[in-house]
Amino acid sequence: MRRWWLAALLGQAACGGEGPVVAAAGVAAEGAPAGVAAPTGDRPRAASWPEAGAELRALAPLPSPGRRLRIIIDAGHGAPGNVGNTSVRCELEQDFTRRVQDEVVARLARAPELEVRAGRPDAALVDYGARIAAFDGWPADAVVSLHSDARAGEGVELHPVTGCWSVRGAAGFSVLFSDEGSPGLKAARERLARAVAGALTEAGFPPYARGYSEALYGAVTDGVFVDRHAKGKRIRMLRGTHVPTVIVETHQAFDPDEAERWTEPGTLDAFAAALRRAVVAATTNPE
Ligand SMILES: [Zn+2]
Repeated sequence: MRRWWLAALLGQAACGGEGPVVAAAGVAAEGAPAGVAAPTGDRPRAASWPEAGAELRALAPLPSPGRRLRIIIDAGHGAPGNVGNTSVRCELEQDFTRRVQDEVVARLARAPELEVRAGRPDAALVDYGARIAAFDGWPADAVVSLHSDARAGEGVELHPVTGCWSVRGAAGFSVLFSDEGSPGLKAARERLARAVAGALTEAGFPPYARGYSEALYGAVTDGVFVDRHAKGKRIRMLRGTHVPTVIVETHQAFDPDEAERWTEPGTLDAFAAALRRAVVAATTNPE
């Protein structure tokens, strides 16, 4: 989501660059232990995300909470001077997020327990301050701001077909929140972050496993990270609202397979169903 990616692609991020620095390659590969023969026969290996054929599930909704929850789905970026990354498909992040926002809003608008609005409803650029004021003023019960990540990884090259940067090996979603503010607001944000990550995982989206530099985002649980940027550099959308707000880094924008999966209606169905379930769970079952 940030501009550090070029430095990462040039190999500088691992030396303390300013962005999320991924761990060195070396995550143990899963599979049969050495010396154990792989099963033979005609059963092919199951596809794993983001490969084509890795299946997602549209989770069933939770019972209605008894009132209509006000939910914002926000297309990240698309603010003046802020277009976000450029994916392996050469799609600007602000265009990706708007496309997914509109698809998710259309799906959630059919949920009787929700009242849904878009954070960036048309082609107009919207300043983050204006968005925060709108979310607080409604007020929303939950805000989910959509992004895609620009991560370091392996196999860095210009994609032979698109000509845009391609990176392998850093797929998955992450959910970001802020722990600044009142204890109640902080707890509500974390509840939302955990519910979203849990529902996405249950739907078949894997959490981003390598994580970020601890100096930037602290790992809370699988796929959930708290903003640890230096004070003054923390993400405004996360810390500035007075309603529970999370960012979902939907996927790795440079991964050709994962970017392709995010063009599929089935991916959007599963993602929207997971958010539908998560916002109800987070809003109606405070611990
Ligand atoms: Zn972003």
